[in-house]
Amino acid sequence: MTLVPAYTAVSATEPLTPGVVSRRAVGPTDVLIEIAWAGVCHSDIHTVRGDWGEVPYPLTVGHEIVGIVTEIGAEVTRHQVGDRVGVGCMVGSCRECANCLAGQEQYCLRGFVDTYNGTEPDGSVTQGGYSTHIVVDEHFTLRVPESIPFEKAAPLLCAGITTYSPLRRWNAGPGRKVAVIGLGGLGHMAVQLAHALGAEVTVLSQSLRKKDDGLRLGADDYHATSDPATFTKLANTFDLIVNTVSAPLDVDAYLGLLTLHGTLVNVGAPPEPAPVTLFTLFENQRSFAGSKIGGIAETQEMLDFCAEHDIAPEVEIITADQINDAWERVLAADVRYRFVIDISTLRP
Ligand SMILES: [Zn+2]
Ligand SMILES: [Zn+2]
Repeated sequence: MTLVPAYTAVSATEPLTPGVVSRRAVGPTDVLIEIAWAGVCHSDIHTVRGDWGEVPYPLTVGHEIVGIVTEIGAEVTRHQVGDRVGVGCMVGSCRECANCLAGQEQYCLRGFVDTYNGTEPDGSVTQGGYSTHIVVDEHFTLRVPESIPFEKAAPLLCAGITTYSPLRRWNAGPGRKVAVIGLGGLGHMAVQLAHALGAEVTVLSQSLRKKDDGLRLGADDYHATSDPATFTKLANTFDLIVNTVSAPLDVDAYLGLLTLHGTLVNVGAPPEPAPVTLFTLFENQRSFAGSKIGGIAETQEMLDFCAEHDIAPEVEIITADQINDAWERVLAADVRYRFVIDISTLRP
């Protein structure tokens, strides 16, 4: 075991502070990664602040991680020392249940191991990427193609795959009309990915404040949801709506925008239940669905797709000691569109 520098939460209410996390010795199928960049996800804040349940402190979060492999275990075949790699929201799963065998480790029937606040087989709590190094099984370590700017690659590991997976599952592509609710960290990825997949893309945002960004990122159309006329104008229009907003929403109003066999899929995660009127689903045989990150093979497919189509998140680079301010700005939706921590600023 080794202690490495980290930026750590000591309680739900205090600011993050410099600390250390312990990393296990590199096992036969593990890689040791020197972390270069770590993205800041809204989930990091929800977790530390206890919004999704109690957590053990001190806790180091961060599940959008890219870095360089500096050591490999004796049985590792997928990665070599010097490789650019990434780690997302999962660092383990049972690897033998039906869902794992189907390549859907995120739906492991025994529960996957979260990159932070997860439980390792030995009972220890996993610690995330706001730190200088991490040891991860090679199966949960992704290849980051050379053509993706490294500092922009980190958010793909959560925001990228979280939006790519439902777009693929519900066939975003040519001839399909896709709407994205919310143009934040997830939404600005969903727009780029849906556009590159060939779909006709509409952003549904509270105001028209970010309209220029939305169109530049590949949206064909942009509507303000604060204007009630939007919901009459766009009734029965979309094949797929991806809801990226992690706040309560008038679900029925958005379901009304779905065309025949359309689906509203949720990837934002407000803690409250979302009420749905079933009669809204009966019309057009609509579906109301959810989606959670993506499997390891699909995450690799997403990274390769982004490389091929020159897709990357728009990021704002921060030093480690700016993290607390950055969190406040995430909560205020004041970031275009993802903060990424320069982990070199954590090294002694
Ligand atoms: Zn995340
Ligand atoms: Zn499993």
